[in-house]
Amino acid sequence: MLFRGSFSLICNPESWSSCLLSPILLAPTLTAEIIAIGSELLAPDRTDTNSLWLTEKLNSIGIEVKLKTIVGDDDSRLEETIRDAVKRSRVVITTGGLGPTEDDITRKVAARALGRRLLLDEALLDGIRKRFQSFGLTMPERNSRQAMVIDGAEVLDNPNGTAPGLFIEHDDTSVALLPGPPREMRPMFENHVQPRLESKAGHLRVVRRVLRVAGMGESAVDERIAPIYTRYANPQTTILFNKSEIEVQLTARGRTEADAETLLDKVSSELEEELGHSIFAFRGEQMEEVVGLRLSVGGYTIAVAESCTGGLIAERLTDVAGSSRYFIEGVVAYSNESKTRTVGVEPVLLLEHGAVSAPVAEAMAEGIRKRAGTDFGLAVTGIAGPGGGTEEKPVGLVYIALASEVQTEHRKLMLPGDRQLIRWRASQAALDLLRRRLI
Ligand code: AMP
Ligand code: MG
Repeated sequence: MLFRGSFSLICNPESWSSCLLSPILLAPTLTAEIIAIGSELLAPDRTDTNSLWLTEKLNSIGIEVKLKTIVGDDDSRLEETIRDAVKRSRVVITTGGLGPTEDDITRKVAARALGRRLLLDEALLDGIRKRFQSFGLTMPERNSRQAMVIDGAEVLDNPNGTAPGLFIEHDDTSVALLPGPPREMRPMFENHVQPRLESKAGHLRVVRRVLRVAGMGESAVDERIAPIYTRYANPQTTILFNKSEIEVQLTARGRTEADAETLLDKVSSELEEELGHSIFAFRGEQMEEVVGLRLSVGGYTIAVAESCTGGLIAERLTDVAGSSRYFIEGVVAYSNESKTRTVGVEPVLLLEHGAVSAPVAEAMAEGIRKRAGTDFGLAVTGIAGPGGGTEEKPVGLVYIALASEVQTEHRKLMLPGDRQLIRWRASQAALDLLRRRLI
């Protein structure tokens, strides 16, 4: 039987060892929502980056973002959005629409949604006028609307622009209205909003850790680890599929970062016991970084010969700073003629087995290793599609091979996906083959 209190701990009374840090009872997480305001954000080529940045900041102080909305500069929709937001969330942050122009409606609409008056703040008006004067300019009349303050709100200083922000405690919800430009919004949040929210959140710390798993499907991973992570409400576990790997995201809350890290250590070591070497990263590292580190630590060198991946493996390996210590050479041997000329694949192998075959993959790996004089040679040959498949050799058939002084091995893969995905997955499988050899 599980006991779940109003706290973020989950304990099994029959086995109290599963009740992590039991004396520390954490307050329920504060929930926040973010409203990005501006019609330009609804255009197909614009991204609301403010809410990404704000989410990270809020998470780090223990506030969970439950909802994000993007609203155009539209009176009624914005009013509705703000009205709903303050009803359901204890923290509401809006960005944008605080400028001086006709389409900047946040101040006016927020006042209406909160049922509060808008008042002219003479001191603020004076400040804005002086800011213009300091640049040798006269304040345009329309900027005076930036001195309108919602009744009961605190004015948040904006050293990087004319639009001041506003902070209001409305019923039990904290509402912050921040400017849209990131260089104005960010310091205003850090200097004025964060400290206010931190005291409200009770100085909770949230730490996130990303584990990555290779060579297993999403449901296979979940089947193995669900019995572990469902025992813990803290950390919270999310499993995501990401191109060619499974991401296990652990989010822990604690009084201090160290408390949260302790929780993460405990759960990730239990996950490691279950999944073993299939977990290739414990701190969100990319496959190429992990492989690079292992090559580096072992003092090994590598060269690659690629056909269907067209240089992707070489690109990924050399993406890592310091890769010149271990990466010697990469060849894209795309045509049959090139496979023979550059990495010495015997024409008879190509004739008898075809370019997409185990013997050719192994010959490519051995050939590039010999040519570059490295400890390891890695090779890929396959059919990325969409054309070129046959019944015998369908799209998605890929051979990867790894050669060292003592051994050459290959794997036959049937990879799902479109051309881009097949190429990516082939590169991942090849790097993973090397990683497992290096363990
Ligand atoms: P505003 O405060 O509405 O006048 O916003 C002015 C500018 O800020 C916009 O043109 C954007 O360049 C930028 N901006 C507004 N909202 C966002 C957002 N959510 N994410 C990133 N940039 C934004
Ligand atoms: Mg705008």
